Amino acid sequence: MSRKRPRPSRVVVVFDFGGVLSAGHDPIDGIHALLGGDRETLATAIWDERPAYDRGALTAAEYWGAVAAGAGVDALTPSEVAELQQADDRYWLRLDPESRTLLHDLARHETPLVILSNASVAFGEAVRRADWFEAFAFAVISGEERCEKPDPEIYEILLSALAHESGGVARPGDVVFFDDRADNVAAARALGIDAHRWERNDPARGEAPNPGVAMAREVLAGRGILLD
Ligand SMILES: [Mg+2]
Repeated sequence: MSRKRPRPSRVVVVFDFGGVLSAGHDPIDGIHALLGGDRETLATAIWDERPAYDRGALTAAEYWGAVAAGAGVDALTPSEVAELQQADDRYWLRLDPESRTLLHDLARHETPLVILSNASVAFGEAVRRADWFEAFAFAVISGEERCEKPDPEIYEILLSALAHESGGVARPGDVVFFDDRADNVAAARALGIDAHRWERNDPARGEAPNPGVAMAREVLAGRGILLD
């Protein structure tokens, strides 16, 4: 199908995942229940190797093997690796209730939505299987791209994927992006993306409102995006 004129520009909303859409930030309980050992050593193992796992430098077996070593477990079977990955996926895939409502409100008005996350290849697969993922056009996952935020290259990958989707050019200013890390926001802004720092979700906030969601609603309303 050929188009004589480019489509009118449309704002795309891009979300980071951890700290923004996910309800929690510390998967240790589920991992500790499976591996046992000293919690502190285990936590160190989980987080020390995570950046390498999230940029695709370690396989699931290598990452979970290193985590298990931190719990004093020296070898994992493939099914144990899968079980650890599933426990971790289950933990992270729980959406913050207010974030979930915001996604519903955006999806109802057919606002194009994208995820841009520093996460492993395995987690990327889990994200795409989640029931709520149908609200999203696609996800850019650092492990798959072997490049992570705040490297400018991953934002270029996002912009070219958006251009490909629309059959035109993606204007960075038409992309509204939310992330809980200041360096990720600054790198996106440097490329002209309309990026905003989202205050990290507090899973213990109880009935208190989610400040990230409140900020995002204000920004999105300011961009003329319908939310009611
Ligand atoms: Mg985050």
